[in-house]
Amino acid sequence: MFTRLQKLYQPQLISKNLSLYRSFCTASSHSTVVTNLIKIQSDVQKAVDFSTKSPLAKVLPVTKRIDPELVREAYAHGERHFGENYFQSLRDRAADFPSDIKWHFIGHLQSNKANGLLKIPNLHVVETVDNTKLAKKLNKACESNERTLNIFLQVNSSGEVSKSGLPPSEVLNAAEIVIHECTSLNLKGLMSIGKIGDKKGFELMYKLKTDLCEKYDIDPDKFELSIGTSADFEDAIIHGGATEVRVGTQIFGERKN
Ligand SMILES: *Cc1c(COP(=O)(O)O)cnc(C)c1O
Repeated sequence: MFTRLQKLYQPQLISKNLSLYRSFCTASSHSTVVTNLIKIQSDVQKAVDFSTKSPLAKVLPVTKRIDPELVREAYAHGERHFGENYFQSLRDRAADFPSDIKWHFIGHLQSNKANGLLKIPNLHVVETVDNTKLAKKLNKACESNERTLNIFLQVNSSGEVSKSGLPPSEVLNAAEIVIHECTSLNLKGLMSIGKIGDKKGFELMYKLKTDLCEKYDIDPDKFELSIGTSADFEDAIIHGGATEVRVGTQIFGERKN
């Protein structure tokens, strides 16, 4: 009797049944992350269909302070672009995660981190270039690392003193300097972290993009506008013509600490 019971409660048996049970569960329902991704993508599509300014908008999942397991679920679902805010976490994640991920740096960049950032081979874009000194620094770092880099210029679109970003009136001048003096940088778009739901700010970003594309003869369909987050991505698409919305909490849930 005792041996029979022992047999029944063999740890391997229990774990085998548990993993069978788990695979049964995942076969019949999506994880929360995947469910959220599908929902966001459908909401984004609805806003795009409604918008006269945005022919296409992508969702950039933002992974700051998110459990790596949840990031892996998004990767397994097919996501290949992710946004990170901190140099250290980006460096560690780029090393730990598959190399076909295209990482977007979306945090405040201290210029002494420029060189380290450029050593990350699958760094796809730095979205937060908010002054020309930083652009020049990144350009130099590109040269010493023998590579090029996509950048977005960050604009302070809501005029908040606490936020970084170029004042709107300086965007065209900064673009001029990047285009003519920073030959290893590709200016690919504009981004802003505005006040939540600031429609005027979104409209301003759209105007800046239009002016910039006109002045430098850039195809607006190939120039990105990274605006809007979990709280206001629909407004960003409809009022600003966002081509990229950066979404954290609505995909991964509330962040730790
Ligand atoms: C955290 C963060 C986001 C995502 O914000 P959510 O409200 O979680 O969607 C987007 N952009 C930047 C720059 C961020 O730091």
